[in-house]
Amino acid sequence: MKRLVLLGPPGAGKGTQAAKISAKYEIPHISTGDIFRKNIKEGTPLGKKAKEYMDRGELVPDDLVIDRVEDRLTWDDCVNGFMLDGFPRTIYQADAFKAWLAENDSCLDAVLNISVPEEILLPRMIGRRVCRSCGATYHVTNMPTKVEGVCDKCGGEVYQRDDDKEGTVLNRFKVYDAQTAPLIDYYEKDGSIRNIDGTADPNEVFDVIVDILGA
Ligand code: ADP
Ligand code: ADP
Ligand code: ZN
Repeated sequence: MKRLVLLGPPGAGKGTQAAKISAKYEIPHISTGDIFRKNIKEGTPLGKKAKEYMDRGELVPDDLVIDRVEDRLTWDDCVNGFMLDGFPRTIYQADAFKAWLAENDSCLDAVLNISVPEEILLPRMIGRRVCRSCGATYHVTNMPTKVEGVCDKCGGEVYQRDDDKEGTVLNRFKVYDAQTAPLIDYYEKDGSIRNIDGTADPNEVFDVIVDILGA
């Protein structure tokens, strides 16, 4: 069983590693950011509410997040576990999630904390490009698409997220420091955290993760 959480600041490489982990261990990649972006694209009430916060680089209110994730974790594809990317992001979410796991006789197998210094994060964020159709992540210089603006995987349009512009990114770092970084201590106390250096290239970071999780 692989019930996993990925922690790390915006740009640490959570989405990039989560996609690899999901493929190797055959567990769903559950990204709360992707769930919100899908709702925004479809114009749902949740999407409309979430967008206000996301555009400012703030967190979406906890109660809008927790129910979504708990519902998603009951889907059949979670039989072998799950890869949570971007949840929990506050102590409140972590407490709610802990209670939910206990109610469902479940637990986490590992919390992977990817660290990268801020001076490396900013250029990663500003150069990030995402596929509008399948959500695949690229970088203008580190991981470019084969054809500019076109997704290698599905042929979709590759664009820059509104919240990846410099001003919003700087606010997201502040929000991370204030609200999400305390989760490192939180999970250190219950002994489930594994710290990973996220500065190496993506395949090397993934090798370290596989060493931790087992082949
Ligand atoms: P997160 O989900 O933590 O915000 P992403 O996986 O979206 O991070 O990565 C942020 C940006 O940095 C993307 O453009 C991605 O292509 C790039 N990136 C991810 N991992 C690495 C890495 N190890 N080295 C260099 N660039 C990376
Ligand atoms: P990144 O991978 O760069 O950190 P995400 O795609 O995970 O970005 O998140 C984008 C935005 O979606 C966040 O800035 C926040 O507004 C919102 N969001 C995602 N997950 C959560 C969460 N667990 N709680 C509150 N807001 C969230
Ligand atoms: Zn695509």
